[in-house]
Amino acid sequence: MKETTKILHSIPVDELTGSISTPIHQTSTFVQIEPGVHKGYDYARSNSPTRKVLEDLIAKLENGTNGYAFASGLAAIDAVVKLLSTGDEIIAVDDIYGGAFRLFTHVYQKFGITVKYVDATNAENVAANISSKTKLIWIESPTNPTLKISDIEEISKIANANKILLCVDNTFASPAAQKPIELGADIVIHSATKYLAGHSDLIAGLVITKTEELGAKIKFIQNASGGILAPFDSWLVIRGIETLPLRIKQHSDNAQKIAEFLQTQDLIKNVYYPGLPSHTNHHIAKKQQKYFGGVISFDLKIDEKDYAIEFVKNTKYFKLAESLGGVKSLICLPCEMTHKSIPFEKRYEAGVTDSLIRLSVGLEDVDDLIQDLKSALNTIKNKLLINS
Ligand SMILES: *Cc1c(COP(=O)(O)O)cnc(C)c1O
Repeated sequence: MKETTKILHSIPVDELTGSISTPIHQTSTFVQIEPGVHKGYDYARSNSPTRKVLEDLIAKLENGTNGYAFASGLAAIDAVVKLLSTGDEIIAVDDIYGGAFRLFTHVYQKFGITVKYVDATNAENVAANISSKTKLIWIESPTNPTLKISDIEEISKIANANKILLCVDNTFASPAAQKPIELGADIVIHSATKYLAGHSDLIAGLVITKTEELGAKIKFIQNASGGILAPFDSWLVIRGIETLPLRIKQHSDNAQKIAEFLQTQDLIKNVYYPGLPSHTNHHIAKKQQKYFGGVISFDLKIDEKDYAIEFVKNTKYFKLAESLGGVKSLICLPCEMTHKSIPFEKRYEAGVTDSLIRLSVGLEDVDDLIQDLKSALNTIKNKLLINS
């Protein structure tokens, strides 16, 4: 069975009614036959039938044994960190998602969990930083916003050899494009807010494990900490996943064309997109990803914030907003939005210049999107003329 068929047909038809759409079990509790005897469900924090359909579906999609759904991507990340104990160390990719950085550094450090941030685009940097305290390696690939690529298979070999867990945040690629567990990862997490739900209409997170044993630990934490996803939002994520392969293919086709267009523009300095042969780790992206995804970043030759602001204010279809992965295109200026809290020098080191612009390429017709970017570039040209 091919993947798209597998996705659609691993969502079960409701046994009781034949409903082809998963029923939303909007209930907190389940009536018991005798004390402790029930139909597999007792209290909806512990187990919920609608959430269970999503959890089984994402486990299949990522080729893991178990899946768990949380109220946000960060709640999913939080559940994975809770596998650790005081004195343990995390090695994390240096341009990690800002929210994960905040959680690791400003919440867990005070409980005695330390974090080392390394440039994981070269797997040797990960190996060189391992100590006897290292218990978790945390990778994102591609990263946000400069789309850096790390070799998941190489890093998983290092993790396995040292008996360290490897967790991959697979939000940017999605399982339609990349399957970290097949590449050797132990755990995958998602902000399902992005491509999995795909319509910019909810916040959700997922954890998928490679083994039943790890799954049982995450399940325990999910129930103990309680950051679960509600039935209706679980249903929306299931519905989003039904069209995931189709959407990722189109997001990626559109993004490839836009990245190639941006590369030909005089005003633009760097274009960051894993699908471009000019991308530093294009060969690794090609090896581990089926599609290159819908996110592109680029910066301007005139590295002045005013010009970048002019650009992002003048697109019509690319709406100015944080987040990504929805059917409608978004544009964002990381230095003023997602990456504002990072000190100037650290930000520049990571390539997040004052003129770096991030696009989440949606499913509009690509010709309209390119036209939109052309006219925004023209507003910069005009501004340059006026100022010259
Ligand atoms: C958005 C995002 C998160 C956080 O997810 P939320 O659903 O917003 O809590 C984590 N990792 C990556 C890569 C993200 O883009």
